[in-house]
Amino acid sequence: MARRKKVYEGKAKILYEGPEPGTLVQYFKDDATAYNAQKKDVIDGKGVLNNRLSEFFMVGLNAIGVPTHFIKRLNMREQLIRAVEIIPLEIIVRNVAAGSLSTRLGIEEGTPLPRPIIEFCYKDDKLGDPLVAEEHIIAFGWASQQDLDDIVALALRVNDFLSGCMLAVGIKLVDFKIEVGRVWDGDYQRLILADEISPDSCRLWDIETGKKLDKDVFRRDLGSLTDAYTEVARRLGVLPSNSAPATKPHLIN
Ligand code: 5GP
Repeated sequence: MARRKKVYEGKAKILYEGPEPGTLVQYFKDDATAYNAQKKDVIDGKGVLNNRLSEFFMVGLNAIGVPTHFIKRLNMREQLIRAVEIIPLEIIVRNVAAGSLSTRLGIEEGTPLPRPIIEFCYKDDKLGDPLVAEEHIIAFGWASQQDLDDIVALALRVNDFLSGCMLAVGIKLVDFKIEVGRVWDGDYQRLILADEISPDSCRLWDIETGKKLDKDVFRRDLGSLTDAYTEVARRLGVLPSNSAPATKPHLIN
């Protein structure tokens, strides 16, 4: 098989040129990083689980009319996606105080927020993805006011959808991060959901026990990350309910 051209390599994923113009192949690696890559490991099977979970959420979002870059899953680790012009922002939606919000504002982790709070971070590893205000985003031309209005509307729809999916399987959606990209249809541009939605980019707590089922398990050395992600996948019906916690997940189609 001809070697594919690598377009971009990030901490958890690689993008290759796709088979058609305007498409890319997104490959999910097993690499886990935290604290701006100061903590690193390879977690056997993580990429397989995230590929399948991100497919599950993107397909569901497409079905309710939220536009995403997802076209189809190709195999255990790869999906075909639309090429987008990434807006250089991490868009964080929070329902419950945790992580950097708790640290920054001294609000105890687990405190429910009075309404979903949306934050923007400027995507720049060298700077540690700093929190920015709408003023910075517009002044520096990373996105327009109209883009921001569209991004907020999209982020809240994703929040409602994901919160519902998770609540149905006994999981609280504490917070999550999304990325958004620009696509052009002729002269018209619109924003669509890009990147991934997986336990790498969400905080997910078991409603009954408060057990963490997301990347904090790795960040905070709380146990097996594969077991936590397998639990999320199994509850959502992405893995058969009787499969043992596995380092090599078995997919159902
Ligand atoms: P915090 O700002 O509390 O560290 O993160 C808020 C939420 O955004 C968490 O669900 C976290 O997993 C996600 N998040 C923040 N930054 C990143 C990032 O660079 N990569 C990923 N995958 N998720 C992030």
